[in-house]
Amino acid sequence: MFTGAIPQHPVATTDKTFDELGLSAEVIEAVRAIGFVNPTPIQAAVIPIAVTGRDVIGLAQTGSGKTAAFVLPLAERLTHGKGVRGLILSPTREIALQTQAFLEVFGKGHGLTTACLIGGVRMKPQIDALRAEPDIVVATPGRLLDHVKRGNVKLDHVEELVLDEADHMLDLGFLPQMREVLRRLPRVRHTTMFSATMPDSIEMIAKEFMNEPARVDITPVGGAAEGISHRLYLVKLEDKRNCLLALLHQELGSTLVFVRRKIDAEWLFHILDRQGHPVTRIHADRSQGRRVEALDDFRSGSHRILVATDIAGRGIDIPGITHVINFDIPESTDDYVHRGGRTARGASEGVVSTIATWQDVPMVRQIEAVLGEKIPRCTVPGIEPWVESDRPAARTRRNRV
Ligand code: AMP
Repeated sequence: MFTGAIPQHPVATTDKTFDELGLSAEVIEAVRAIGFVNPTPIQAAVIPIAVTGRDVIGLAQTGSGKTAAFVLPLAERLTHGKGVRGLILSPTREIALQTQAFLEVFGKGHGLTTACLIGGVRMKPQIDALRAEPDIVVATPGRLLDHVKRGNVKLDHVEELVLDEADHMLDLGFLPQMREVLRRLPRVRHTTMFSATMPDSIEMIAKEFMNEPARVDITPVGGAAEGISHRLYLVKLEDKRNCLLALLHQELGSTLVFVRRKIDAEWLFHILDRQGHPVTRIHADRSQGRRVEALDDFRSGSHRILVATDIAGRGIDIPGITHVINFDIPESTDDYVHRGGRTARGASEGVVSTIATWQDVPMVRQIEAVLGEKIPRCTVPGIEPWVESDRPAARTRRNRV
């Protein structure tokens, strides 16, 4: 389980100290207790602004230390015992649970209590948690609205709002639910929003629901994380599976395999399982319990391979993933960056291998434009590479999830 356990792996930090960021002694004590010595760039930039109560937009990805960047100001500004005054919207259950783990540690000094409202699990324990009058709710938008509509929770005293991975929430189709939640909140409040990218739809939300936000951008140039080697395997459609199997024999580290559709996650899982690979899978059709179990198995190393769809795979914070394989090319360049961000987390290094066919070449070119470099073409023994010509590639066929 994530709960109560903050993931800890190497991350690039600044030479600033937490004492310089405007945090109180109690909160700094909690930071020290878990062993954070210096703030990361996003923490150093966001915390001093957020503790003053000014709205902030942070452009940062998972792995940059952004969770603590919003949890610390929240822990600083809220005190225990006046009903739900902090609300954090997260795109996925996994990210919500990770956030709750941070809240439990950093909120201790002010006695802050948290309820986590995520879909796919029973309502009853969540209703019990709400009856205990938590100070902070961390929730995925759909489940939160369920509770609001049933009268289980009131949001009219929320003072602190965090929209985490806002672009990801939009990608998942949460815009209507997000708007509905935002409309129910008091107008006077403090809002912090994080996003890896700033598409127009996010600018729109910022304009409509935030108050002259300060903008902090620490995304690496080109949008891709450092420490990642990219490789491209151009093959015929019928060779994709054998290419994957060959890659899995070549690279023996902890490997995350991305597919586009839930049905393909199941299909690939069964193929790899039958071949004797220690594999598990995570996608939106699996129950919360099964998803947590799969992540635990992957994290502990008992299963070296995790097959995931984008929805389930984004935001996974597991140290030691050495290899990300795109079995299906991502639907967008943002997804490519996010998938790749699951490896080379913090200071370590990783490989992102993309298996692509001629139909994927237009997307490959877009990805290369974002990376600012051509991805090296690679081959695996026994599989004939598909050779690119200079003629314009045909349009990509899109399979929706
Ligand atoms: P996040 O981007 O919030 O998912 O954080 C990425 C990882 O960095 C997590 O494993 C955190 O526990 C870790 N982390 C966050 N801030 C710090 C810090 N200031 N010093 C050391 N590790 C940190």
